Amino acid sequence: MPDRPSIALLPDRLVSQIAAGEVIERPASVLRELLDNALDAGASEIVVRLDGGGIRRIVVQDDGDGIPVEELAMARTRHATSKIRNLEQLEHLVTMGFRGEALAAIGSVARLSLTSRTRTADQAWQLCPDAGAPEPAAGTPGTRVEVRQLFADVPARRKFLRSEQTEYAHCLETLVRAALAWPDIGFQLVHNDKPQRQWRATSMLGRIAQVLGQEFIDQGLVVDARHGPLTLSGIVVHPAHARTRADRQYLFVNGRHVRDRTVAHALRQAYADVLHGERQPAYVLYLGLEAGLVDVNVHPAKQEVRFRDPGAVHHAVAHSVAQALSGTAGPAAQAATLDPAQGVTPAPWPAAASGAQQRFDLSERLRPSASSSPHPATSTTDAWQALYRPLEDAGPAEDDLPLGVALAQLHGIYILAQNREGLILVDMHAAHERITYERLKQVWATQEAASQRLLVPLVLDFSERDVALVSEHAPTLEGLGLSLGISGPQSVVVRAVPALLADADVDALVRAVVADLARAGQTSRLEELGNALLATMACHGSVRAHRRLGLDEMNALLRQMESTERGDLCNHGRPTWRLWKLADLDRLFLRGQ
Ligand code: ADP
Ligand code: MG
Repeated sequence: MPDRPSIALLPDRLVSQIAAGEVIERPASVLRELLDNALDAGASEIVVRLDGGGIRRIVVQDDGDGIPVEELAMARTRHATSKIRNLEQLEHLVTMGFRGEALAAIGSVARLSLTSRTRTADQAWQLCPDAGAPEPAAGTPGTRVEVRQLFADVPARRKFLRSEQTEYAHCLETLVRAALAWPDIGFQLVHNDKPQRQWRATSMLGRIAQVLGQEFIDQGLVVDARHGPLTLSGIVVHPAHARTRADRQYLFVNGRHVRDRTVAHALRQAYADVLHGERQPAYVLYLGLEAGLVDVNVHPAKQEVRFRDPGAVHHAVAHSVAQALSGTAGPAAQAATLDPAQGVTPAPWPAAASGAQQRFDLSERLRPSASSSPHPATSTTDAWQALYRPLEDAGPAEDDLPLGVALAQLHGIYILAQNREGLILVDMHAAHERITYERLKQVWATQEAASQRLLVPLVLDFSERDVALVSEHAPTLEGLGLSLGISGPQSVVVRAVPALLADADVDALVRAVVADLARAGQTSRLEELGNALLATMACHGSVRAHRRLGLDEMNALLRQMESTERGDLCNHGRPTWRLWKLADLDRLFLRGQ
């Protein structure tokens, strides 16, 4: 047997290189560590210079506290930190850093120089990569860290670096996160000697606008909530502007950008009713909680945290975001209508800004103009009669109706209405779909589905796999008023449909529902499946484009929208209506100019 090597301590540098393997993956990870250090030092201005996507050189210069000359060498030593002294302080962390490892790790896989001057020192000192002691240098108070030739001596790592553009893009994203996290710090970014970004110190909303564009604010709803020891603030984007990619989702916990499943799930839940399919929400959210309630020492690169009470966090996020989305939001919702040049910005309910709990109680305020229907029974279906009924004995105050009074139908697709403020256009199908969806949802929640039996049960062919799905989910569907049974190895019988969908094309409806079941097969989360089913059914049960409506029917639809929660969005997150104020129209015709 060959000689077994004896146990020996690893050399310091190798330990750092191993640690670097966890923390330093690419130039952007170096940048993140250096930015964290600048923040911890109390910087108010941070300048970042990159060359070659950060592979050749990364410089981060701050105007913070600086490092005393006698500590410079110590700073790049492993496990050396000025930020914590004991476990107690680790558990109540107020700084970004605490491991005392970043500079050592970076120094072990790149050439690191430190130049620093404290606020009281009369000059700066520089510690070069291979030097043991600092030398006098020129420099203003603050610290300048320069990192060259990342992974030059670590071929295994270098191999994984991508193109300069890609590495630059990662660095930029890192800077974006830092900038969003700390709006009161000014940032500059230079790449290959070209200035790329400059963000002055500002407010939280100001910074979001600087970094993500004013439209992010215009399309956003403000979240500003407190739940016990938790605070949640920021912007969630109106579902109408949801993105196809999940690239604008920023979560900061106590100023630290993290990824977190609890919060991600809470957000998905909050958006579930207004966002279906592949659309992705966009948000910048700041979660604040006492340091003792969150453990940041769970991930070497600090990209994850652990909450002491994840349930409370989930509740706070889901609740506050859902509230913002349901139109009760404050300033940003209004800000969304501030720019009249954008006549097409989805406006919040004109009168609803003060709170959605106060919904429009139409039964008390409306009167139908029953005499004015030019197209009487011809197009009036059961569903429409159902919409009419509550209107029969109401009294009108037309001017006060948020969605106004119907004037006409446009190309069988849109309803034109007028309210006190101007012209309203409603997408009939989208609006009806939303209403049906919310009603189905209520039905489902109370499990008191009214269903309409088919005179002749309908038998449909399906694959064995689909038949199995139907048999598995039949009880769920029954709860929605859709009664399906198995009539053969490859056939399903439809016995009843939800009363709300009495007019739907039953064949198409059932096939769409079964497709949902198949898709949900992988997730099998009842809650998500439920939402998908409701959306599908609402879509099939809703009035299609090109259906002629009488004025009464249109007014009924408008009233119904007013009393429907989140009536301003269809289930796919598209707006259901838009408002053009008179002033907008005047501008369009250059009136008074
Ligand atoms: P940590 O941030 O976890 O303490 P680092 O290796 O990142 O560990 O930094 C080591 C120490 O060097 C810090 O604790 C701090 O005292 C000092 N330091 C690093 N960067 C800066 C900076 N930009 N300004 C002032 N001090 C710094
Ligand atoms: Mg650090």
